Order: sequence, then C-alpha cells, then structure tokens
Amino acid sequence: MAIQELEINTAGVYPLTDSRQVLSATKYGPAEAVFFAIRGEHHDGHRFITELYQKNVRQFVVETAALTPERRHELAQLPDARIWEVGSSLQALQELAARHRSRFNIPVVGITGSNGKTIVKEWLAQVLAPDFRIQKSPKSYNSQLGVPLSVWPLNDQHTLGIFEAGISKPAEMQALQSIIQPTIGIFTTIGSAHDEGFRSRKQKVAEKLRLFRQAETLIYRKSYAEIDEEIHLLLKAVNPSIRLLSWAVDQPADVAVSWTAQNGGTRIGLEGAGYDVQVQVPFSDAASLENATHVLLATLVLGVTDETVLRERFARLRPVSMRLELKEGTHRNLLIDDTYNNDLAGLSIALDFLNQQDSSRRKVLVLSDLLETGMKPDELYPAIARLVAEKGVELLMGIGPEMRRYQSVFTVPAHFYATTDELLQSDLLNEITDSVILVKGARRFSFESVVARFVQKSHRTVLEINLDALTHNLNFYRNKVGPQTKIMVMVKAFAYGSGSAEVAGLLQHHRVDYLAVAYADEGVALRENGIQLPIMVMNPAPESFRQLVDYQLEPEVYSFRMLDEWLQFLRNERQLKTDEQPGPAALPIHIKLDTGMHRLGFLLHDLLALGQLLKANPVLRVASVFSHLVGSDEAEHTPFSQEQYREFMEGSSQLESWLGYRPLRHLLNSAGIVRLPEYKLDMVRLGIGLYGVEVSKLEPQQVQPVGTLKTVISQIKDLKAGETVGYSRRGVLSRDARIATLAIGYADGYDRRLGNGVGQVWVNGVLCPTVGSICMDMTMIDITETSAQEGDEVILFGPPVSITELAARIGTIPYEILTGVSERVKRVFYKE
Ligand SMILES: *Cc1c(COP(=O)(O)O)cnc(C)c1O
Repeated sequence: MAIQELEINTAGVYPLTDSRQVLSATKYGPAEAVFFAIRGEHHDGHRFITELYQKNVRQFVVETAALTPERRHELAQLPDARIWEVGSSLQALQELAARHRSRFNIPVVGITGSNGKTIVKEWLAQVLAPDFRIQKSPKSYNSQLGVPLSVWPLNDQHTLGIFEAGISKPAEMQALQSIIQPTIGIFTTIGSAHDEGFRSRKQKVAEKLRLFRQAETLIYRKSYAEIDEEIHLLLKAVNPSIRLLSWAVDQPADVAVSWTAQNGGTRIGLEGAGYDVQVQVPFSDAASLENATHVLLATLVLGVTDETVLRERFARLRPVSMRLELKEGTHRNLLIDDTYNNDLAGLSIALDFLNQQDSSRRKVLVLSDLLETGMKPDELYPAIARLVAEKGVELLMGIGPEMRRYQSVFTVPAHFYATTDELLQSDLLNEITDSVILVKGARRFSFESVVARFVQKSHRTVLEINLDALTHNLNFYRNKVGPQTKIMVMVKAFAYGSGSAEVAGLLQHHRVDYLAVAYADEGVALRENGIQLPIMVMNPAPESFRQLVDYQLEPEVYSFRMLDEWLQFLRNERQLKTDEQPGPAALPIHIKLDTGMHRLGFLLHDLLALGQLLKANPVLRVASVFSHLVGSDEAEHTPFSQEQYREFMEGSSQLESWLGYRPLRHLLNSAGIVRLPEYKLDMVRLGIGLYGVEVSKLEPQQVQPVGTLKTVISQIKDLKAGETVGYSRRGVLSRDARIATLAIGYADGYDRRLGNGVGQVWVNGVLCPTVGSICMDMTMIDITETSAQEGDEVILFGPPVSITELAARIGTIPYEILTGVSERVKRVFYKE
C-alpha cells in the first residue's frame, strides 16, 4: 500500500512502536494508538500484535514481508482491527510524521553535530520556555525512529519545535530532514563519533548538512573548518538564500564572541549581525561555553533580545543531567532518582523505567509541579493524572501548589503537600516499605532531601553501573550471533559484581532467552525479584532440589551421582503426590559434557549409559546439552577449542539419538562468540563481555565499560620527604608530597596487591599512585600533581582506568577485579 493511502489522521492518534509501552504521555487511550510493527535484528514487532489487540489497540501497520500464512491467519482472528500493510513500517511512520510536520507553520530548530545536541536542545527549551509553547525531542531521541516519535505530538498549541537529528550512516539525514523541516539550524560540533560509518569526515559533514537544505538560518562555529568549508561548497549551492550565522572567539566571523572568566563563571559577549549582548553563565569549561553560545545566538534569532531577560535566564542555566539512577533504599525499597528535566515525556520515560523494575513491589511516585512542559495547567495535570494511572502507580505524593490545586483530577491513592518540607515532616515516608519509589521533581523543590531520606547511608564508595553500556554490549554480542542463536546470560556471582536483580531486570526487559547462576539461592533471589526468564543453576546441591522445583529453576546435571539423586527425589515427590495431582511435568535439566576442561561434566565414554538412563526416565526433559571451552580467549588454544567442538558435537549427537528429540546445544562463552563465531550453535553463554571486558582482545573497541568504582577523599596532608605513610612504614616519601586518604580498602574489593604505587587512581583528570599498603577500609594516594580538595571524587576503576590493565598490574584477570567488589559497596545503576 502506498503511504498516501494510509488514511491515518496523525492528529487524532499516537504512534506506538514498542509493545511494552502501550500507553504514553498523551490524552489518548489504546483505542487511539497505531502500532507500527517494526522488524529489527533482535525483535519483530509483528509478534506482539495479538497481545496489543488484547490491550485494546486496534490499528496496526504491518510489513508484507513479515506476513507468513500463520501470521495472516492470526490477523484474521482480530475482527475489528484496522490493518495497513506496507513495505516498511518505519518508513510509513517517517512519512506520516513528515506529512504531519508540514501542517504547522511555526519556527522549528533542528540540531545536529557530533556532541552537545541534547544539551543545546535542553538549554534552549529552558531559556525559551516563558515565551513559547515548545515541543522537543525527549532525551536524545534523535534516530530514524526517535525523530518521528518526537515530531508526531506537535499540535496547534505549539509555537516552537526543537528537535535533534543524529545519524550513523550515509543517506540517513534525508528522512530526518523531511520530518523535522527545520527553519533554524544549529550545527554543534564535528568529531570522530560514527566516523566508521562514513568514507571520510567530509562525507559525514556533507550528510549532516542535508538537514539544513531548506532552513532559513544556520548557526555554527566557524572554527570547525570542515563544517565551514562544506557549508560554502555544498549547502550554499542547494540553499543559496540561507542566512549563515557563523561565530568564533579566535578568528573573524559573522558574530564575534568573547568568553571572559568572571566570579566563578564566564561572561559571554556576542557582537555582530545586528546583535550586541552580554550574559553571564555559571560555567567555565569550553564545551559548556560552546553550547551556551549556540543557545544564546539561537535565542536572539528567535526574537528574544531583551538583555535583562537574557541575563537572568542564562545565569540560571545548570548542567543537564540525563541520568536516571536506581539505588537501593532503606526498608527494602528501591529508589529511582530522576534528575532529568521536568517534562511530560521525561515523566513517561521514568515511569516506564519504574515499570521495568521488580513487579512484586509497590509502585510509588513522588512528583513535584512540572514547570517546563509548555502546556496549560488545565491540560497538563489531567494528562499527568491519566499517565500516572495508566502506568500503574499505586501511591502518589504530589508536592507543590499546582499539584495541590489539581489534586481532584488524580484517581490513584494520593497525598498532597504544598512544600517539600511538609512532605519530609509527614509520617507517611516512614511507612513506605517493599516499594519502588520514583522521585522526580523540578530543581527548585530540592528533592535531594527526599532521596536522602530513602537511601541507605553509605560510606560514599559506590560502584556505578551504566545500564546503557550493558544494553550496548548485549546488542554487540546479539549482532555477532544473529537472530537464530539464543542468548543465555551468566548472572552468577552477583552478575559479575554488578548486581544480579537489577541486571537481570534489564535483561528480562530486553528479552534475552535464558539466565544462569551458580547456586540455587541466587536463582531464588532472582525469582523473588520478579524475574520470570528460564534460569539454569550450574551447581545445585541436593538440599536445594525442593527449592529448584518450587521456583522453577533448571538444574545442570553433570554426574551419574547427581542424576540418581534427582531421580530419587522425583520418585519420592511423585509418590507423595499421587493422590492429589498427576506427577510433576517433566523437569527441564541441562546436561554438561566435559570436553577438556576436566572440571564438571560427563565424559564421552559415559554417554551410552547416560542416554539409556535418560531415555528410561522421561520425567526429566533435557532442555539443553552444553560444554565449556578452556581457552577461547587465546589464539594459541584455538586448535584445542576445535578439538573440544568436535568432541562436543559427537557427544551431543549420541545423546540426541538416545533421546529421540533435540535439546539446545551451546558451547561458546563471551570470548568464544568473538573468536569462534562458527561454533555458535543454538545458544551462547554470555558473561564478562556483557559487563564491559572483551577478553579475546580481538574487538575491544566494540564493548563499553560498565562499572565505575568511585570513592571520595576523606583527608589530605602535606608531608615532608623522609616521612612514611601507613602500616609498617612501607610508604616512604622521597620528596615533599600531598597525601590523600581514600574511603576504600581491601575489604571493599580494592586489592591489597595494588598498594605501594602498583595501583593508580584517577583524581580530577590526573592518575595518582597509591602510597604504602592498602588498609582494610582505607587507601592512601599521592596527589601532589593535582589541586584536589577533601571530598573530591576518585575513580578506582572505570572508563579512565581500565579494568584489564588493573588486573594485569597485579597478575590476575578482570573477572577477579569485577567479582571482588564487596557487597558492602553500594551499587548505583543509571541510564542516560
Ligand atoms: C561463567 C561461565 C560462562 C561465561 O564465561 P565468560 O568468559 O564470562 O563469558 C560460560 N559458561 C560457563 C559454564 C560458565 O561457568
């Protein structure tokens, strides 16, 4: 069907592309949703149509190529569904969004560039909020999918649009241009991000410039010579009437800019092209100043030119934090601390994150007045009330005069307070237990104090887990194995130190196929945290068999002794239960073959007896057969890996012929996926790679670090040459030095072998060596080369300090560093 024939009235409906987010921040219900079934590498939206139908969604855009006879049959069972069949659902979504955009004759700012897009967008919206009703991209929704979803909500009330556009490959900007149709462009920076997708930097700049081929004005920094050149070569040729506003601090440009340090901040002066203003911003780093200058120029172009107004608004700019943090709270609560900007789309995203967490806990929302939405309160608060009800919030605490005024529109159980202090003084906070609590407030409500009330006291040493990096890594390995191979993720040992329940929750959200733990109680803990994925338990003791059955955990079976114990256990079970109910359904087990590790598992010559035994006992169903490679990370062991593969294939086929059915077969761990992808079989077992270490070292750049271990400086001392630091006088100073004591020691997992300068930590951008021995709870470092202060943050490992290198320094492997971080160190999970 051609898009013109898609009679979808974009103003009356809202687009849905993720089946998990049926309801979104709009005035619409499921009946007004149109689901675009999109196929990606790992998911296929077509699989969820019936499920959505049951949730009352009635309009579906589907792809011809995805309609197998079974699926057509399935769709035919949905009598009053409206189904549009197209070649590409994504393209249909994009074209509808473009058509929708064309209806509005308002200024629209389009932002592209390698860095700074989101900050420029957020600041611009913040500065212009009093003058315009703004629709902007939520967070960094700037992709082929994110842009149409950002633009679609435009309506007659809006007087300004601000959208960002990001591309990673040639030919992507065309579509984004037609959806955004910017009248004012901002090209922030050009750097190396996504270089790999392009022939050259020039090509990337040229592609990005397509966003502005119909813009009236373009703002850019002239110092990026590649941008300036291509604008004159290419853009001017297709858009000769465009008004170029180049700016620079260090060379002639249309607008001359000056940055002058002034009482803790910077004065930005801007002169030329008819403008002459000065404002003060509370920043001094170059990136913030560059972003603020773009914002100032765009604000002027949009007609807000009163210097008093500008001064006041720019003085209030604050760093944009896009983090959503998940922390463990007191009284078995989980806390989501959302410091992101305060608008409806942000609230919707945060509520989705709330819903991703443990389903067995109560959902609590602490919410202040929303100040930056560009909506009238009469529309805003009813919309919030609907959203809060749809997302299943079970208790609301509303803070602020507006929340109080509109309290009658909320349908969920709620309490309202005029100020944050009033909330803090109420007893209600003490009564909240076993809940997930989302705390989301505008800055002026100082919700830090609410967060502090809920969060456990810590000694300020934290392991931060970047959930976006985890997702990135999962996708990297998924792409490697392709859609036909399942993924089992190893979450043993507290998910390699990262925190099992939270990591498992994310993996469940991303629909991995299996999880694996070492012991039954790890599996039980996951079930108690609402994890429903199949879970394999690698080392179950007989005392835990009852638990395994009750919690639907699937044991690994590696020996005849264990197999006998299981059969005995199940026989007893059955006899006990014969009167009440039929015997338990076949129990899924996983058979481990020993092909060379010589740790656990059946040897090849056991398989005849094993096959016969399993065939005679159909009460056990072999869900999978697997083995483990001993040296997939090192090239020198590849011949042995090949040998193991041959042996595994031989063993698993023997077993299959006895069983008469085919269990899943799996062999590869993280390094194996990269080094020996041809052995991926039916499933792979992903471990350390997910947690950010690419141990085969073949594609280290593809995996992002996940964990950052941080602490703070407790005390600083200036010591003289010849003095000593720490136990046994090991840290002898050869010169006068500034020594800082950190709130972390070997009991937290900072290995004692890192003492005496072996370890280096990151303080304000400088690597500082340890001094003397590492103590149980403290570590001393030499900070002579820094200007660090007491209370400053210190990074022990994480992006600037590679875990692989740290491990090498003390002759161990990254696995030990990761799993060594003590459970007393608080984990903080965040996503941008
Ligand atoms: C831990 C483990 C893995 C994962 O190994 P990584 O090297 O972390 O990817 C895979 N299989 C088995 C049996 C394991 O015990």
